[in-house]
Amino acid sequence: MTDPCSIDHAHALDRADPLRALRAQFHVPLHDGAEQAYFCGNSLGLQPRGARAYVEEVLDKWAMEAVEGHFRGHAQWMPYHELVCEALAGVVGAQPAEVVAMNSLTANLHLMLVSFYRPTRERPAILMEAGAFPSDRHAVESQLRFHGFDPATDLIELEADEPTGTISMAAIERAVAEHGPRLALVLWPGVQYRTGQAFDLAEIARLGHAAGAVVGFDLAHAAGNLPLALHDCGADFAVWCHYKYMNSGPGAVAGCFVHARHARTDRPRFAGWWGHEKATRFRMGPEFVPTPGAEGWQLSNPPILAMAPLRASLELFGQAGMPALREKSLRLTGYLETLIGARLSRVLEIATPREPERRGCQLSLRVREGRDAGRALFDYLSANGVIGDWREPDVIRIAPAPLYNNHDDVLRFVRTVEAWASA
Ligand SMILES: *Cc1c(COP(=O)(O)O)cnc(C)c1O
Repeated sequence: MTDPCSIDHAHALDRADPLRALRAQFHVPLHDGAEQAYFCGNSLGLQPRGARAYVEEVLDKWAMEAVEGHFRGHAQWMPYHELVCEALAGVVGAQPAEVVAMNSLTANLHLMLVSFYRPTRERPAILMEAGAFPSDRHAVESQLRFHGFDPATDLIELEADEPTGTISMAAIERAVAEHGPRLALVLWPGVQYRTGQAFDLAEIARLGHAAGAVVGFDLAHAAGNLPLALHDCGADFAVWCHYKYMNSGPGAVAGCFVHARHARTDRPRFAGWWGHEKATRFRMGPEFVPTPGAEGWQLSNPPILAMAPLRASLELFGQAGMPALREKSLRLTGYLETLIGARLSRVLEIATPREPERRGCQLSLRVREGRDAGRALFDYLSANGVIGDWREPDVIRIAPAPLYNNHDDVLRFVRTVEAWASA
């Protein structure tokens, strides 16, 4: 058997990869004339080469048809968001009417909380993970205060109970049991952004519902990273962005899921005209009649230019399919893990769970020598065309995205860390 750390071995693995051709569908930024080893798809996914044509299609339609672009010809703007529903539903495991592309992630989280966080004196509390992404925490805390409750008592942040900062299912179960009667909402990540830990969403939904709480998921780091079964897991709602693993560009229009059982809910919502029933929207009447399903939470006519790249990205997800992407992801991240174990264990500690079913593609790597050395290593990687990202105080996140990363990228990361460590 060849040495797994040899270039020949990495190239043999890449030749055997059935998805290897997809990399050519992306713009990979260059470093010294060669493609970067880009591991930052968990922050901003690469641009699909097809995105430009979709954006230009909108610009051309606007130039040539102006207002008539809304309701004439190909890819008309009035139903433009419907062009992505089916493919998007496929990526997150939902029915097409359960998903909508709109707004941004945090805006969608607020809209979902307006409808699904309905605290009472007896049941005001929200359970989330400690160290959540700040925007989620700000959203939740401001919603608690908006309803007149006190985050100090009613925001329950579950601390990590495992040695590398991850959270066991048993800890979640205990927290739900302990706070159950006071829980209005469980808001949980599909994949935790800092640790890369993936959670059993069906089990969390089951626990939350059994306690009488609503269950919502933030899938910012899960959408396009893991196969999801949103409908079957029973979540009440979910939100995510499209600029990370979904490769739809900086600040891309985000995603939102509302389970079919709430399609015709009479819960309160913050409404806008684009959520109004389509058949009568342009009668411009004063009364709001929501479109059934997730589309009923839309506020405004969507930013068509911003939505266009999502179509290019979804085409690639459609070509590959989430099961095949996951298979490749398991191989690629497994290869990274193996090489770190073989060559870098004195430099880096893997903080992400070692069980593949408890993680997506990202490995969070704690630099053993601490912050200053970690920062120096991170800068050295960047200077050598290996792009990860840095999370204070001592973590480098490396996310091999199966749509465009390959084993050669992973080997470059490992060799560059070795070069730094031996310098
Ligand atoms: C990336 C990310 C966000 C970012 O929120 P935006 O509204 O898209 O700016 C929020 N929450 C989580 C968990 C994230 O990973």
